[in-house]
Amino acid sequence: DLILFWHRRDLRISDNTGLATARKQSPKVVGVFCLDPNILERDDIAPARVTYMIGSLQSLQERYAQAGSQLLILHAEPTQAIPKLAIALKAKAVFWNWDVEPYSQERDRTIIEALKEKGIQFLEKNWDQILHSPDDIRTGSQQPYTVYTPFWKNWSSKPKAKPVETLENAEGLTKAEKEIAEASGVIELPSAKDLGFHWDGELVITPGEAAAQERLEEFCASAVNEYQEQRNFPAVEGTSKLSAALKFGVIGIRTVWQATLEALENSRSDETATNIRTWQQELAWREFYQHAMYNFPQLAEGAFRDPFKNFPWENNEEYFQAWCEGRTGYPIVDAAMRQLNELGWMHNRCRMIVASFLTKDLLINFQWGEKYFMQKLIDGDLSANNGGWQWSASSGIDPKPLRIFNPASQAQKFDFEGEYIRQWVPELRSMDAEYLVTGKISPLERHAVGYPDPIVDHNKQQRLFKERYQQQKSQT
Ligand code: FAD
Repeated sequence: DLILFWHRRDLRISDNTGLATARKQSPKVVGVFCLDPNILERDDIAPARVTYMIGSLQSLQERYAQAGSQLLILHAEPTQAIPKLAIALKAKAVFWNWDVEPYSQERDRTIIEALKEKGIQFLEKNWDQILHSPDDIRTGSQQPYTVYTPFWKNWSSKPKAKPVETLENAEGLTKAEKEIAEASGVIELPSAKDLGFHWDGELVITPGEAAAQERLEEFCASAVNEYQEQRNFPAVEGTSKLSAALKFGVIGIRTVWQATLEALENSRSDETATNIRTWQQELAWREFYQHAMYNFPQLAEGAFRDPFKNFPWENNEEYFQAWCEGRTGYPIVDAAMRQLNELGWMHNRCRMIVASFLTKDLLINFQWGEKYFMQKLIDGDLSANNGGWQWSASSGIDPKPLRIFNPASQAQKFDFEGEYIRQWVPELRSMDAEYLVTGKISPLERHAVGYPDPIVDHNKQQRLFKERYQQQKSQT
């Protein structure tokens, strides 16, 4: 009996719960991935992200071949293409792992209806990319959490599943079945360029399971032990850079969690253990935002909290362009935006700085920044990105007091030697750290090296933002 396993955000054969369940039911498990035009034709798709995804699919095809089976590729409307392929191949079942995003859930429901009609089996709500079902983590009154700390307390106290078995000794399609598959839309894997996405730069992480596993091992053997402090310095390689692998499920979350437990076991001091726990908390932030997206899908549409629903944003297009291109005249902001544009990745500290700057200094709707990030990030992910932006805009589920980052004091604390700024804003390279981090560079010096004057005054803008916020708050 053939089971088709539909990969989406789980581009791996190891530690994949849905795939392992399929293999238990039958040796004949064939993978399928559908390049979805509804996603690829949106205007917020980053070339770096597609390039990483295609590379990971290529490596997944190799993994399937080693396991004795195949990964088939479709490029069509999935609600039609998936049932069509299953019917043509007389599959007993189509299995896949569930996702929290609103689009994905709607698409899956349509497909379930089509499969049911033909008597083809499927897996109901099988979670794989998160450690706990969003239906299971609830407050005392059975409500979803809107605040991280109590979420973390509850979530971290629950036992976590161990990694599941890797697909092995599978059977693939026969020659005749391959012909049927081709007649039903199966194609060769295209390149990112074939799909219209050009990325000539380096990728911050090599595509494929093996590279993600290696990165995890490397990180857990070294940097994780100093994570708590080092993660804050954008010039330091203090974080895992596993975000794209986690977004596409190129590594299993149970495998990652297990690695943290082993690191904890091997840790030689309380201090080391605290560092590892801090990293666990970041993994929990990822899950917190996925649960939030599942429980409050309206987050994807805009501000969650009332004062921000009709906020009088200024939305100045010129300011926005300057922000996108790293020409705001604030060195730390510009360094970060240039890192994003060049690498398709930005350090977390800087994501917070530039998001605060866009919303609180430039008074631009956070959704503009959210979209720009999606257009650039290799790890761009609806739940994490929206979570990060709504946190920075103070418009999200977690009702903390207003956070306004002062770019100069952020740079003074986290890039005190100006190393990161020098790396990404080369025209300022020869300046002393003091000027770089405070941004106190005279107009004459700025003009001499072709660096812009600050487009706004931070102190003035933050007062303006607060006034508008108070006004909105009193009206809601
Ligand atoms: P590490 O520090 O090694 O953390 C390990 C993993 O934990 C990350 O790979 C990621 O999966 C998860 N994680 C860490 N911090 C967060 C967080 N605050 N929220 C959610 N998950 C987290 N992360 C994305 O994966 N995709 C996004 O599109 C995204 N957009 C963001 C936008 C803004 C405005 C902000 C402030 C943060 C955003 N983040 C996003 C979260 C965070 O910046 C990145 O996950 C992190 O920088 C990735 O680097 P890393 O893998 O080295 O992280």
